[in-house]
Amino acid sequence: MSTTAPRLLQVRRSERITPRMIRVTLAGDELAGFTGDGPDRRIKMFFPVPGQERPAIPRAASGGPVWPAGEARPAIRTYTVRRFDAGAGELDVDFVLHEGHGPAAAWAREAQPGNWVAVSEPGGRYVPDPGTELHVVIGDETALPAVATVLEALPGDVPAIAFLEVADAGEEQDLPGTADVRWVHRGDQEAGVPLAAAVRDAQLPPGRTQAWLSGESACVKDLRKHLLDERGLDRRAVYATGYWRAR
Ligand SMILES: Cc1cc2nc3c(=O)[nH]c(=O)nc-3n(C[C@H](O)[C@H](O)[C@H](O)COP(=O)(O)OP(=O)(O)OC[C@H]3O[C@@H](n4cnc5c(N)ncnc54)[C@H](O)[C@@H]3O)c2cc1C
Repeated sequence: MSTTAPRLLQVRRSERITPRMIRVTLAGDELAGFTGDGPDRRIKMFFPVPGQERPAIPRAASGGPVWPAGEARPAIRTYTVRRFDAGAGELDVDFVLHEGHGPAAAWAREAQPGNWVAVSEPGGRYVPDPGTELHVVIGDETALPAVATVLEALPGDVPAIAFLEVADAGEEQDLPGTADVRWVHRGDQEAGVPLAAAVRDAQLPPGRTQAWLSGESACVKDLRKHLLDERGLDRRAVYATGYWRAR
């Protein structure tokens, strides 16, 4: 956890961007000084538990975070800064409304203007390598917010291919940048299975390649190994994060 206390924010509005994805726009005085720009910026989000109006948040202290006594601890999950607009004082987070009944997705589904949530300082280390001849970007729905920020940051004159798994055509989104985007529909297959197949079956042009991949953890682990062992990518050129576990 960061040494800075989480920022308490309020929902300004929310909007369905596809049938299974909701964009929640957060705002508040505590957003001042937030540094959410850049590709793939991750935040911890602190959600109130039932019965709480605001989530309990820890006070930053030199020996580690100190939680308020007698208050239930929040549900904490990791999300992506989809958009931060310092001028408008707004932070957008896109939530997948998955069927797993988790507290984060449930909170987003019900989010109303004025609802409270807290966010940590953003982290994340991905930067496009200027010496790269091909960028490969791989992800599922949960990764789409980060994929959008990654594609935005890629140089327009270097080829980029994105393999993106979503439930069906209704979950495809317009994405920034010039990448060759290859949508894969899950249908009734297990999460990650069609994505792994699409990447394995693809012909990739030769050249120094950098890869960014995120999604279901087992799929990410499998594809990271594929990129390193079968495609021969350099370990330092593969930036992989498991975002959620199917079981
Ligand atoms: C760096 C990082 C960035 C992330 N950014 C985003 C983001 O911008 N948007 C986003 O939606 N998610 C994002 N995630 C994924 C998100 O943190 C997880 O999906 C998280 O588990 C959701 O919390 P929850 O409380 O809804 O469900 P949990 O309580 O964590 O899980 C409850 C059940 O739901 C299942 N489940 C969780 N997620 C999914 C899913 N996507 N599909 C199907 N079943 C699921 C679990 O297997 C579990 O059985 C990110 C994760 C990481 C690590």
